[in-house]
Amino acid sequence: MHELSIAEGLVAEACRVAAQHRARRIDTVFVKAGALSGVEPPLLQRAFTVARAGTVARDARLLIELGPVEVFCPQCGAVSGAAVNRIVCQACGNWRVEIVSGEELILSRLELSEIGEEREQPCVTPADAP
Ligand SMILES: [Zn+2]
Repeated sequence: MHELSIAEGLVAEACRVAAQHRARRIDTVFVKAGALSGVEPPLLQRAFTVARAGTVARDARLLIELGPVEVFCPQCGAVSGAAVNRIVCQACGNWRVEIVSGEELILSRLELSEIGEEREQPCVTPADAP
């Protein structure tokens, strides 16, 4: 269950940010997932609905933005896009390239509401359990 641990991490991070802003609700969680991150959006969506239960993100939508793959070629210095199944330099065809982006999976943005309420909302996810 690769996606579930990812979703739990995202929810835990989102809850931390929400707590910093004293938000009692998370409306939307924006995630940027590189094409090489190995994440299957439908599986991550399903895992997210499990991970968000009982947290301030319980009603949140998850929006997954798929990022492109970019590689740097140390041979010719080009930075170019690459296909997931063909990671080579577009300029010279060198396959000894470094991946610049495409492997990331990051929480890029949150939409919060009910900000500034005094009442503390517990934020317990399985990821926080000892
Ligand atoms: Zn090159």
